[in-house]
Amino acid sequence: MNQTAKNAGLALMRQHALIAGEPIPANGSGIAVDDPATGEVIGHVPDLGAAETDAAIQAAAEAFPDWSRGDPHRRAAFLRRWAALIDDNVEGLGALMALENGKPFEEAKGEVTYANGFIKWFAGEAERLIGETQDSPLGHLLLTYREAVGPCALITPWNFPAAMLTRKLGPAFAAGCTAVVKPASQTPFTAIALAELAYQAGLPVGALSIVTGEASVIGKVLTDSPLIRKLSFTGSTGVGRKLAEQCAPTLKRVSMELGGAAPLIVFADADLDLAVAETIKGKFRNSGQTCVCPNRVYVERSVAEAYAEKLAAEVAKIKVGAAFEEGVKVGPLIEDKAIEKVEKHVTAVRADGGRVLTGGSRHELGGRFFQPTVTLGGDDALFREEETFGPMIPVFAFDTETEALDKANASEFGLASYLFTRDLDRAMRFSRRIEAGMCGVNTGLISTAVAPFGGVKQSGYGREGSIHGIDEYVDVKTVTLALR
Ligand code: ADP
Repeated sequence: MNQTAKNAGLALMRQHALIAGEPIPANGSGIAVDDPATGEVIGHVPDLGAAETDAAIQAAAEAFPDWSRGDPHRRAAFLRRWAALIDDNVEGLGALMALENGKPFEEAKGEVTYANGFIKWFAGEAERLIGETQDSPLGHLLLTYREAVGPCALITPWNFPAAMLTRKLGPAFAAGCTAVVKPASQTPFTAIALAELAYQAGLPVGALSIVTGEASVIGKVLTDSPLIRKLSFTGSTGVGRKLAEQCAPTLKRVSMELGGAAPLIVFADADLDLAVAETIKGKFRNSGQTCVCPNRVYVERSVAEAYAEKLAAEVAKIKVGAAFEEGVKVGPLIEDKAIEKVEKHVTAVRADGGRVLTGGSRHELGGRFFQPTVTLGGDDALFREEETFGPMIPVFAFDTETEALDKANASEFGLASYLFTRDLDRAMRFSRRIEAGMCGVNTGLISTAVAPFGGVKQSGYGREGSIHGIDEYVDVKTVTLALR
């Protein structure tokens, strides 16, 4: 147990919401946040509702004119100061995240650095909000400006408490937007700590609020408000669809990063050891709780048994435990119902005639721990439509490239996909035909601040990170100048 690290995390924990820069304390009641490893309550955030959400929106609207019309270099300078403070607090922020989310401490620190990459990247993008000049066929001169959309509502999930926030706030602030954030109730403390650092870095009062409370109440106020001009949401497809509907009457700009059911395809010509290692990296990040985790693995029949055996042998070595234990790679799942879902998926494979090669049940540590699991065979239908969101890899065999592509595409989702082959023609062909927003070729890790992130089909729309991320937060204004 790394008590020093834990204390660094607790030192950054603020048991309050932040409305227009003002703390609203929980005073020991409201929403209880627990450590998923033990179920013990680590602290509270207040249970706020419509009135506080309205106040946050009002503050965001008041802060918007000055922030958006000001010099973009001022915003870039702020983002760099914020990033520097985050770099100074990687240990503490990582520990706080590990406490509320349960992910291994080393991984949590890695997420803080990854999250900060978005702030650093978008500091540069603020300086590159470049417009165009053009001659029009009417003899006019056209000028374009890239202007901030307006005050934004940002709703974030619990699986990446830092990165999902900075992936939205980085471009929002760079563009000149202000924001009201509703973090997930399971992991609000990382968001609040990051917001505190933003104010320390000189963010104008009101430009950011963190509202905690009943999601549907806060979500309704945010989506109904005509002052909020943009919603960016990361979470489940069902909630995303509902929020998009709620945004329709006010015609808000909307970005949706929703669920996935990522296929991972291994051809017989692939480097099997590499495929195994990368499958593990991709699958067990955040204990299998990411929307880009491989959800179903298809392996060419001639090597399916060999791949699955190698994979099972490696997965069996993975150390499971609480976040601060040495060498832990897989932690607890976020809540009890997450464990039930993995159990359901293992049961489904067994019922369809598949075999469990390693794992398959709750871990001896009890609580929300599940054994890292590999199965072979059974029916893939469930895994096309439902994310396991836990430490289980179901492997299925295929015979032809066409069959693999058809199976990969036979899902309503289209977020991430992965492909292992040494045949360049096949890699190019397959990655173009796969219905997904992202495809990793011979790698299981595809997320960085510089890569466009987003999906197609029921996985949503809009792109985060990269040179495209800021487009979600700007409107193009055209000025037509008649030169007489
Ligand atoms: P998950 O299954 O990963 O928890 P959710 O879509 O339920 O995904 O949650 C993602 C985020 O959306 C969280 O911040 C959650 O509180 C929020 N949320 C859930 N339901 C609603 C809703 N009806 N309106 C607004 N936000 C919601």
